Amino acid sequence: MMEKSLNERYAMFDENYKVIVEKIAYAALRSGREPKEITLLAATKTVPVPLINHAISRGLTCLGENKVQEFLNKYDQLDRDHCDLQFIGRLQTNKVKYLVDKVSCIQSVGSVKLAAEISRQCEKNSRNMDVLVEVNIGRELSKGGVDPDGLLEFIDEIRQLPGLRVKGLMAIPPICSDSKELLRYFSGMEQYYVDIAGKTMDNVSMACLSMGMSSDFSEAIQCGATMVRIGSSLFGERVYQ
Ligand SMILES: *Cc1c(COP(=O)(O)O)cnc(C)c1O
Repeated sequence: MMEKSLNERYAMFDENYKVIVEKIAYAALRSGREPKEITLLAATKTVPVPLINHAISRGLTCLGENKVQEFLNKYDQLDRDHCDLQFIGRLQTNKVKYLVDKVSCIQSVGSVKLAAEISRQCEKNSRNMDVLVEVNIGRELSKGGVDPDGLLEFIDEIRQLPGLRVKGLMAIPPICSDSKELLRYFSGMEQYYVDIAGKTMDNVSMACLSMGMSSDFSEAIQCGATMVRIGSSLFGERVYQ
């Protein structure tokens, strides 16, 4: 494959961005929702900093990185004043300290151990951290996240940790063979989200339901997603170095 020049990638982003924003709006309206209820988070793993900053200059307001080292390599050069930075990848406990003063939200909290370390680092830095609870909606061994059966108990435990603010749920559904199966997972998530929102628990608000990626964001929006995380449909296929 010939690698594209940055200028070509800028132009491709501009076109993709327009299309994605339109598709998000269409999916929202079709479900009787307002397009502005849905935040587009750009998943920027492997995307070079100049292209990310170009995207921010075009109006992108939220991005998510997956790997701590890659995030740190990019951090100083990102146009941070104009974009909210979040962490969306699997996170090892011993790396929380590198993120805690740099991101607004950690979307991938799936263990009490991780939540406790985020809390500890927050206290050290005198700050609060928004977190989403990652739900292992397909109960897959290969994936992180909390088993749906233990979700309420998990939230009830971590909400008591100082510095942590539980702001919602995140999920990556299994690879599905048809959209009916996919919708079943996404509506399962919506059900958990609504159920938890209906219980009043201190320090828990269901403000964000983060689900849907390049291949399935329309279905996710249909099932109530308030944030979609999109990478390859915006920036092109990922090139791993
Ligand atoms: C890479 C990634 C995405 C985006 O995936 P695409 O299929 O490229 O849109 C979303 N969420 C997470 C957690 C990711 O790692």
